[in-house]
Amino acid sequence: MIITQKYFLHFPVCETNTPIIYKLVKDYDLEVNIFRALVSSEGEGYLVLDVKGEAGSIKKAMEYIESFGVTINSVKNGVVRDESLCNHCGNCISHCKTGALHIADLKTRKIVFDDKLCIACGKCVDNCPMKACSTVF
Ligand code: SF4
Ligand code: SF4
Repeated sequence: MIITQKYFLHFPVCETNTPIIYKLVKDYDLEVNIFRALVSSEGEGYLVLDVKGEAGSIKKAMEYIESFGVTINSVKNGVVRDESLCNHCGNCISHCKTGALHIADLKTRKIVFDDKLCIACGKCVDNCPMKACSTVF
């Protein structure tokens, strides 16, 4: 079965030069779509990507990646919201085109964050007056 899965990868300093994406394509026959990439000033690497292919191949590919000490998160993508800073002003909703930030309950009108819908566009980070949204990118 062909599936598409989103991943947030964190590479330790020693592995940022390893051609891991090349191996995913060549050895595991996967399609890889990179949304965002960053190497920090300390030399750590961050990647947000979509991986498409056979579910079994993706599983093996992620096991291969983990063998390098890479941390894999299949839900988060580098964007986080600090609930304690959010005042639920709602400003981010108009900028969030995927509905990842939305009002779940019209009575409370509290803003909730569904990171499975987030594509890491960064609009909420740029438009949150409370700096509640942040990203490693
Ligand atoms: S813009 Fe910031 S403070 Fe306002 S609801 Fe969104 S996350 Fe909360
Ligand atoms: S990064 Fe973009 S998609 Fe994700 S929550 Fe913020 S505005 Fe929505």
